[in-house]
Amino acid sequence: MTRIFSGLKPTGHLTLGNYLGALHRWVEADQHQADALFCVVDLHALTVEHDPARVRRLSRQAATLMLAAGLDPARCNLFVQSHVDEHARLSYLLECTATDGELRRMIQYKEKGARAAASGQSVRLSLLTYPVLMAADILAYGTDEVPVGEDQTQHVELARDLAVRFNQRYGHTFVVPKATRPPVAARVMDLQDPTSKMGKSHESGAGIVYLLDDADLVRRKIMRAVTDSGHEVEYDKERRPGLANLLEILAACIGGNPAELAPVYTSYGALKKDTADAVVELLRPLRERHAELAADAGYVDAVLAQGSERARGTARPRVDAAYAAIGL
Ligand code: ADP
Repeated sequence: MTRIFSGLKPTGHLTLGNYLGALHRWVEADQHQADALFCVVDLHALTVEHDPARVRRLSRQAATLMLAAGLDPARCNLFVQSHVDEHARLSYLLECTATDGELRRMIQYKEKGARAAASGQSVRLSLLTYPVLMAADILAYGTDEVPVGEDQTQHVELARDLAVRFNQRYGHTFVVPKATRPPVAARVMDLQDPTSKMGKSHESGAGIVYLLDDADLVRRKIMRAVTDSGHEVEYDKERRPGLANLLEILAACIGGNPAELAPVYTSYGALKKDTADAVVELLRPLRERHAELAADAGYVDAVLAQGSERARGTARPRVDAAYAAIGL
């Protein structure tokens, strides 16, 4: 059976980008078709300045939202990265396999490093090495497929390269994984700045739909989305990124195709209204279920405890084998 691994970082409230790029597919397809593991990757939240209590709170919230979205602990394994030592154990061996040059080439490192430096913060070494930890997350489980948004493709490529290199040098140890992307909305853009990704750690929330925003707020944000000053609705990501973004969001929500939806609309207002309605409908059950689960922290903790126990059992033999292969 195909093994799938993917994760969410608890650095902020989850967004519509996280949902359409990742979580939606995990719920609708992956957990039914594969042996799937989904992880709150809290160690990755430590690469930038953070408040310890907030990381803990956001980890629990991310897990709660994953369950609220429909991940079923009877069908998949949901756990928290730091509860399973194998990730950090394997990461060091992979650091001994990766090169400084290939990590410095990572786009996210360049972008986030530049942002940190511009705000006068020193850049943590873990910001550079985090793709290696992500490779460890993936390789520890013998993962075949990693369902992610477009922004993570380069990091999954690194995991592939490290698996191949380690196997060639030390003998076959790791499955070589591949990234899979959603057919539409692989990169949901910020509604106020459709040239940049909708990201949970961005400063302003005006262009970001959070999964727990109430229906009125979702509508307001979408109705105020930045578009161009034209009239005709067409799907052109290069020339008309704001419109293309709305068409992709709508298509992902209703299971359509953005290029085919474009000619249906004769005004931007109508497109925005339908997109807002579709997003509100998509998120409604998630928000209702979240309210129930948030009141039952014991249940969420029990799911996570059981998940990490199973994850440890899956990862340990392969990580032990990697230690043996490398000469330890
Ligand atoms: P973030 O950038 O919000 O911190 P994470 O690193 O936690 O996201 O990514 C979790 C998953 O959500 C990944 O698979 C990532 O590719 C996906 N994702 C994040 N933002 C977007 C977006 N704007 N559009 C599509 N997918 C996204």
